[in-house]
Amino acid sequence: SSDVTAHREIAEERERLLAQRQQQVDRLRELDAMKDDLMAMASHELRSPIGVIRSYAEMLREAPGLPAELRAFIEVIDRKSDHLQELVDDLLDLARLESGRVSVDARTVWLTRLVRQAVDEHRAAAQAKRIDLTADLPHHLHVHADPVRLRQVMDNLLSNAIKYTPDGGAVTVTAGHDGGPDAGAEPGGGDGRDGTVAVTVADSGIGIPADQYEQLFSRFFRASTARQAGIKGTGLGLAITKAIVEAHGGTVTAAPRAGGGTAFTVRLPADPSAPH
Ligand code: ADP
Repeated sequence: SSDVTAHREIAEERERLLAQRQQQVDRLRELDAMKDDLMAMASHELRSPIGVIRSYAEMLREAPGLPAELRAFIEVIDRKSDHLQELVDDLLDLARLESGRVSVDARTVWLTRLVRQAVDEHRAAAQAKRIDLTADLPHHLHVHADPVRLRQVMDNLLSNAIKYTPDGGAVTVTAGHDGGPDAGAEPGGGDGRDGTVAVTVADSGIGIPADQYEQLFSRFFRASTARQAGIKGTGLGLAITKAIVEAHGGTVTAAPRAGGGTAFTVRLPADPSAPH
């Protein structure tokens, strides 16, 4: 009957559309991979010429009898090429992380100690801005993570907190076993039975407009508050942070802090073998 024919036609049309959709998805994946390769290649190729510029600038700076004016120019070259180097390193790191080519060397990490060390190393930067930097951490906190990568995450969050907090503000680090994804912004509130550890870096800084939280972890994104305050940056740090945390099977989120400022929370799998 015509009913059966109509059915078959609809089914065929559906098949055709699905195949077309799949082709588009494949093409987008391919383009995405090409873009990642290009980014990785470009940053890799930029590394060696930048290295050459830096070493010549270094040598010139040390040259005896150099007029003060020239010395000032060379210092600019030195500073800018350092910055360029950092940018290229970040881009390369991000490209590698996002392509999944980075192996996470996860093991039992004593998180309490790692976070304390990171906090201690940021103390001078905080003091220079009279920022009250405090950490409130339980002694026995372990995660399953790559210590070098985890340290990179903590350094990123701490340096951002200090950078985006005006003089005289406060930065607080807290951590604890998490009560699960619904435990809210309060780390350490849960009983730890779900095996997640949360670390929060909260600051009393310039904050992020509510409608911009969603874009925060995209590469090159910079919030309007940061731009308006004239604070320099590349918008790569949080993209790198997110890629690292996700490579560990964790999550990173940002939320407004009560009383102004921002709170970033990283959640990672707890180490099942470690004592609680
Ligand atoms: P960068 O700091 O180099 O701009 P990031 O990727 O680390 O890049 O951060 C992206 C953006 O997120 C920043 O430009 C800033 O707008 C916002 N941001 C990050 N951390 C904070 C913070 N603690 N307080 C306010 N804004 C922040």
